[in-house]
Amino acid sequence: MIPVQGVQNQTIAVLGLGRSGRATAAALREGGARIIAWDDSAETRAAAETEGLQLADLTHDKAWEERIDALITSPGIPHLYPQPHAAIAQAYARGVPVDNDIGLFFRSFATQAWEAFDTAPRVICVTGSNGKSTTTALIHHILSEAGRPTQMGGNIGTGVLSLDPPMDGEVVVLELSSYQTDLARALTPDVAVFTNLSPDHLDRHGGMGGYFAAKRRLFSEGGPDRCVIGVDEAEGRYLAGQMGQTPQDDRVIRISVEEKLEGLGWSVFARKGFLSEYRKGRQVASIDLRGITGLPGTHNHQNACAAYAACRAVGLAPREIEAAFHSFGGLPHRSQTVAEIGGVAWVNDSKATNVDAAEKALLAFDRIRWIAGGLGKDGGIAALAPHLSRVVKAYLIGHSARDFALQLGETPHEVVETLDQAVALASAEAQPGETVLLAPAAASFDQYPNFEKRGEHFTALVEALRADG
Ligand code: ADP
Repeated sequence: MIPVQGVQNQTIAVLGLGRSGRATAAALREGGARIIAWDDSAETRAAAETEGLQLADLTHDKAWEERIDALITSPGIPHLYPQPHAAIAQAYARGVPVDNDIGLFFRSFATQAWEAFDTAPRVICVTGSNGKSTTTALIHHILSEAGRPTQMGGNIGTGVLSLDPPMDGEVVVLELSSYQTDLARALTPDVAVFTNLSPDHLDRHGGMGGYFAAKRRLFSEGGPDRCVIGVDEAEGRYLAGQMGQTPQDDRVIRISVEEKLEGLGWSVFARKGFLSEYRKGRQVASIDLRGITGLPGTHNHQNACAAYAACRAVGLAPREIEAAFHSFGGLPHRSQTVAEIGGVAWVNDSKATNVDAAEKALLAFDRIRWIAGGLGKDGGIAALAPHLSRVVKAYLIGHSARDFALQLGETPHEVVETLDQAVALASAEAQPGETVLLAPAAASFDQYPNFEKRGEHFTALVEALRADG
């Protein structure tokens, strides 16, 4: 745990008492603060109370009659759009600062005794619309493989304040969502990474401009030493331009999977499966990404470029990074090869809950037996029509199976209802060289509690097939 600095004897209100809220309360308490806490759910409040948290209804005036020094909120709670939560509105009205665990982390991390370190610990933060988790996990994996002390947290795995206080020379890798970067009052990464931008969570950010502005704060507030920026969208190009003084400024490392970026200060790009690093107009390294099973597809090549650049920014050598690419297993449920049986690859991309992510997964493989369906979104899978030539046959499950069938046209398909049936049939029909891909293009909630459970079920079914030999 990282005790929060600068809160001794203060009264801090904590809103949202899920896992991260309770961890934040504990770190604040460790730092000497008195906590009053609230959550809209009575069940969650009761659980927090049994852990010794004092409750007060922060949505009502009464709770604010005593002095409250700050309100700390959880990322799932709207702080501005569509409208501020009633407790946050109270804080705004009373001029009480609102912050989150990320802001507390940066305040507390930076106030350690720096002179005690031979090599000061550093923080790499990853944001963007897609690929955050993969890029964060990949950076952490590369650093671990290279023997560097490292921890990973934030929006992935451990909450930031539940990390251990940093060791000498440690690199802490954090995945940050737009909700987290939007509100944090301190954001001072050493290396900031922006993977890409596509519309998401627009209701919470008042539109695309607000969404981008939330992510941009990681760069504009924090003054990172190095900025790793995906420049395949206009927003990334704009941001890269803002962060560098000249085209040759190597504070910015530009990333692309669309363009050769040879003439700028520092760049990393992937084309046709090869990653290249250029610095001041000269090629520094080249890595063949094609045979790396943990990073299939152009979208993962983008993640590889971002992770490569971040690791270069903290001093790793190209060959250390290349070696670690090969041992990266991929994250569960994201284009993850779970088995190869009789020449057929079985890939779990249960995280592909929308058409955008499913598109990336389809583009990553050639001869696909595609398991899709679940709780479909508006428009179904119409947008995937250009990629259906890669699909040998689709196996449709769940609530949207029949709607998806209507959109598949000439592409061979069968409505099978359940994942068990889909896996059994695909196993009977798949030929060597093909890939059976779970990329549902739909949410899981009609048949599973979440996408993780759906992916775990798929993996268990594939394991059983392997065991049957
Ligand atoms: P995030 O943490 O940003 O949600 P993940 O790494 O968990 O990103 O990936 C989420 C989904 O998006 C997965 O289905 C994955 O296959 C797909 N994906 C991963 N990286 C990218 C990328 N760079 N661009 C587009 N889609 C991606």
